[in-house]
Amino acid sequence: MSNTALPREAELRTWASRGIEVEGDVLVTRMPRLQAVVASGEKPAYATLRCWKDEQHRYIVDVKVQVTVALECQRCLSQCELELATQSSLCVVWNEDSIKELPSGYDPLIAGDVSDLHALVEEELLLALPAVPMHDVGDCEDVSRAFGDSTMEVVEEKESPFAALGALLKTPDAEDDKG
Ligand SMILES: [Zn+2]
Repeated sequence: MSNTALPREAELRTWASRGIEVEGDVLVTRMPRLQAVVASGEKPAYATLRCWKDEQHRYIVDVKVQVTVALECQRCLSQCELELATQSSLCVVWNEDSIKELPSGYDPLIAGDVSDLHALVEEELLLALPAVPMHDVGDCEDVSRAFGDSTMEVVEEKESPFAALGALLKTPDAEDDKG
């Protein structure tokens, strides 16, 4: 975490030509897609970007992002704090046609003249989110104590309409009438 905000916009090709490096914070409130999936995230993400050109004159952005977010544990449904840390080497390209020419080790970043760095940081973090966030084994809240047996009943009630729908969709074989 730093005390400076990461700039919002960058001309990454220019930055790469000049070898510019920046670091700074991005508030989670500036990353709406991330904010939508985290239970809370008061602390900002901290990002560093190092822009440079490789020997093939490609525009490269080495980006590291770090943030601590609270997600809903999928085992006990209470909050678990997770640190997300990402590290990527992005190659700035104009369009999808250029992607297949990239050597391994680079991830493509399709960008026009100006890039939104906050969106870039958000994208990195979304990719780093675990598919099924969970506490470490043994760290979960006691499910039965926290929610009681009623939790199981609610789950069953939620499932039954779908089961009924499934039955509805399966039943008629009206197509067989033609002939
Ligand atoms: Zn848990």
